[in-house]
Amino acid sequence: MDMDGVILRHPKAITHVSRQCVHYVAQKLVIDHPSAYKLNKLLYQRFGHTLLGLERLYDYDLEKTVPEFNDYVYPSYLLGHIVWTTKEDPIWTDMRKDLAVLLDACDHQGIPVHVFSNAPEVWCRMALSQMNVDPLRFGSILSSGDAVVQCSLKPQKVVYKKVRKHLETKYGVSDLDLYFIDDSFHNLVPVMDQPKWRAIHMDKDKLRTKNHYLTSIHTLRDLTELI
Ligand SMILES: [Mg+2]
Repeated sequence: MDMDGVILRHPKAITHVSRQCVHYVAQKLVIDHPSAYKLNKLLYQRFGHTLLGLERLYDYDLEKTVPEFNDYVYPSYLLGHIVWTTKEDPIWTDMRKDLAVLLDACDHQGIPVHVFSNAPEVWCRMALSQMNVDPLRFGSILSSGDAVVQCSLKPQKVVYKKVRKHLETKYGVSDLDLYFIDDSFHNLVPVMDQPKWRAIHMDKDKLRTKNHYLTSIHTLRDLTELI
């Protein structure tokens, strides 16, 4: 399951990251912030991730830019700031409750759950820590820049192949049935018609009416709908 927008739905935390992303685009392309804001939004909407847009338009090398982007957008001082300024927010408890219901139900049925995020592992661990959720409740945290995913990003097709290979090796089973939950429609498209994948769109407002015509994508408002 995805992290931002699925497990982590703290508006302030996500806004901080979005701002850092705009700063990154501004300094990388040497443009002003209003232009960077517009371009960042456009790249995200068109390519599913800012870096994939920069790669396509400016020939950026993801092997170099993914680690650089992660260091810039998720610096330790920002994570510390988020931890400190949001620690009393009740939304962490709300998110933990939703997640705990799902994790308990999956535990009960022997279904392992994994994090699959474009954010770096340090970000995912910060979010789980704020929610007071033990990271060991997940089979693995698959995140950009790690040994499994490396410098690939959702929605690149290759990243889903890497994740499947990793999980099938981990469990010694081929043709695993994988249920994948993401709040980005872009990220579901590469697997929506793939065998042994079930694409689940987390869309709390269920506003994307186009999805209602796609029988291969299941839509849900919150994690407890899966139980
Ligand atoms: Mg997301």
